[in-house]
Amino acid sequence: MYPTRLIRRFRLVERKFREARMFADAVSSPRHPIMAHIVPIRRCNLSCAYCNEYDNSSKPVPMAEMIHRVDQLARLGTSIVTISGGEPLLHPDLEEIIRSIRARRMIATLISNGYLLTPQRIMRLNRAGLDQFEISIDNVLPDDVSKKSLKVLDPKLAWLNKYAVFDVCVNSVIGASFCAPEDTIRIALRARSLGFKHTIGIVHDRSGQLRSLTEQQQTILNDASIQNKSVFSFARYNEFQMNLAHGLPNRWHCRAGSRYLYICEDGMVHWCSQQRGHPGIPLDRYGREQLDHEFHSIKSCAPYCTIGCVHRVAMLDSLREEPRATLDEWMSSTGGKATRAKHPPLVRLLSWIYLAPKSSIRRRLFVRLTLRLLGVSQS
Ligand code: SF4
Ligand code: SF4
Repeated sequence: MYPTRLIRRFRLVERKFREARMFADAVSSPRHPIMAHIVPIRRCNLSCAYCNEYDNSSKPVPMAEMIHRVDQLARLGTSIVTISGGEPLLHPDLEEIIRSIRARRMIATLISNGYLLTPQRIMRLNRAGLDQFEISIDNVLPDDVSKKSLKVLDPKLAWLNKYAVFDVCVNSVIGASFCAPEDTIRIALRARSLGFKHTIGIVHDRSGQLRSLTEQQQTILNDASIQNKSVFSFARYNEFQMNLAHGLPNRWHCRAGSRYLYICEDGMVHWCSQQRGHPGIPLDRYGREQLDHEFHSIKSCAPYCTIGCVHRVAMLDSLREEPRATLDEWMSSTGGKATRAKHPPLVRLLSWIYLAPKSSIRRRLFVRLTLRLLGVSQS
């Protein structure tokens, strides 16, 4: 038990360093994907009623092909590779794929329903170098909509707590189940009691668009968002979600196809899981021209989009383009642009250093030093 704790701490520090490098890379250059989702298998062992991302028959993509795709993502300068599905734990060579991502200096994360986890599998994921495991739990008891329930998955959470040296994040899709929406609070409390992060996604229709939430679901989302608020909790992201929960549109620039890529099981690049076919170009042929084009393209689905990871990626671009205004928005307790934000001391210190006038010696010195320390090349 003691060595696991020690390794976990060591890996946490090392991971934070690589996350800082990803962050510095993202805010210093718009010319590479920050995150890519890859699908090594479309098959899933469950069949959630709200999901359009699985089948029950397709075979795993061969390992050599998956590693070739990882190479292609490295060629584009991708920072984070998230393996999703279907259910990725069904892939027989999953750990090799994770190893290949880490060997190319990218952050490796995984989204799973957790059903196939065992202590042995967790230790294999440890050895492969996985950085984060996101497990989805939608309700306390399984129902017709989702079998991803706390009752079934709690033993898996206990194993993750005992054996995992990677980060664990529990995600609940709100609006998905017919059961009591306060389940989300119970799941969040259980996740935090085990030292895991907890996030909430909002259920979407088959094009990634908002499905309205009930008043009770809105309240629960609000409560969970308030509990999540810390300096770097992406407070602005909570605002995105709260707008959606109230049926209001968001004003943002979706950079899918450029800063975020979705690579399906056939090796094609799509904007996201819900907009497959756009642009629908093989990853092998994807390059600077396509990244630049999609960086500037306007997606009409953006105002009511619920795809959280693409929102978060876009927030890093806002920070790069308008750092002061973006920080004010993130830190503002009301989220209103006109409200003068009271920034916490750490944010004030970082702003003083990094947001000084471009010509200031302080800023030039610290930027150069930070990028050198993190091993980021300045473009
Ligand atoms: S477990 Fe995930 S991939 Fe499988 S059906 Fe449910 S939501 Fe879809
Ligand atoms: S706005 Fe972007 S992430 Fe959202 S559905 Fe459209 S393409 Fe996908």
